[in-house]
Amino acid sequence: MKDIKDVIIIGAGPAGLSAALYTTRAELKTLIIYDGAPGGKLLNTHLVDNYIGMPNTTGVVMALKMYEHAINLGIEELNEKVVDIKDASEKIKTVITSSGKELKTKSIIIASGSKPKSLDVSGYQEYFGKGVSTCVVCDGAFHRGKDIIVIGGGLSAAEESLYSEGIIGKITILNKYPSLKIDEAVSNKIKFANHIEVLNNIEVKEIIGDGKKVLSVRYLDENKKEHNKEVSGVFVYEGWKPANRFLKNTQLFNADGFIEINHETNETKIHGIYVVGDIAKSKYKQISIAVADGAKAALSAKEMLTLEK
Ligand SMILES: Cc1cc2nc3c(=O)[nH]c(=O)nc-3n(C[C@H](O)[C@H](O)[C@H](O)COP(=O)(O)OP(=O)(O)OC[C@H]3O[C@@H](n4cnc5c(N)ncnc54)[C@H](O)[C@@H]3O)c2cc1C
Repeated sequence: MKDIKDVIIIGAGPAGLSAALYTTRAELKTLIIYDGAPGGKLLNTHLVDNYIGMPNTTGVVMALKMYEHAINLGIEELNEKVVDIKDASEKIKTVITSSGKELKTKSIIIASGSKPKSLDVSGYQEYFGKGVSTCVVCDGAFHRGKDIIVIGGGLSAAEESLYSEGIIGKITILNKYPSLKIDEAVSNKIKFANHIEVLNNIEVKEIIGDGKKVLSVRYLDENKKEHNKEVSGVFVYEGWKPANRFLKNTQLFNADGFIEINHETNETKIHGIYVVGDIAKSKYKQISIAVADGAKAALSAKEMLTLEK
């Protein structure tokens, strides 16, 4: 069969672009397929200040640099959505795109990422990137010494609030449930954290700003009394939506939508299919981790293809 790729990479965020750099340099016949503009979530990130060697860089600039670095090596690209994978367990797998192309490959690197679920509250979309964020680890330092609100009631909301001790002034967690949905160990840490206050049974009504930045959050407390709390930033943890729809026929993802991998190789339970970045089942979701995943999967694919020639 002609035109069988060595690797098809699905997604052009940090994980997919890093994988592309490594597979191309390893002289693997690579095709990268991505939906929308290349760069993934970097395109929605205002500033990145925790990627070594690129301090205080806008997400858009970082996306462009990563894309140009990978693409200038001569990689083949296709700007389409992947809708299905057929023959996943066979030696030659088929990737199907939205225009109906059926592309054959010996291995696949899935780098389709995930999106934070948005909050259906007035002001969320308008102030996203202007004080509203979904990542304290990423953007908390921009509110150094100031007060913020965290909206959410799960482990991410709790852990990222704990992480910010000594960085942010005071954190108020607004939780819509009667208690946080977290284990006892984390719950104890929250209880003894002087910089965190948890308010339960809260209904967030509006994020208010001046057109340029967030000023306050309006919410109802458990007695339906209204408050308007002034803050510098709002961090929202409503959960994640992994981009896994095209994997429906592979049984690769868990009930939570993420994909288990062998952390040494990034291979999934299906031989020759690797998963990298935010769609992988792993605790931390960061650019540096996505990039490392991409490198690992590409090196693993190279080794597999060399050994099984
Ligand atoms: C608001 C915010 C701020 C952040 N700030 C930082 C920060 O400062 N520092 C940091 O380290 N991390 C930060 N992060 C986390 C970081 O953005 C992610 O960890 C990183 O982008 C993950 O890269 P990825 O390549 O796995 O996925 P993504 O960036 O999500 O990229 C996924 C790619 O897959 C493509 N895709 C999806 N589905 C399909 C399909 N069916 N077919 C084809 N292509 C598809 C998308 O178009 C995209 O190109 C932030 C995250 C958010 C939400």
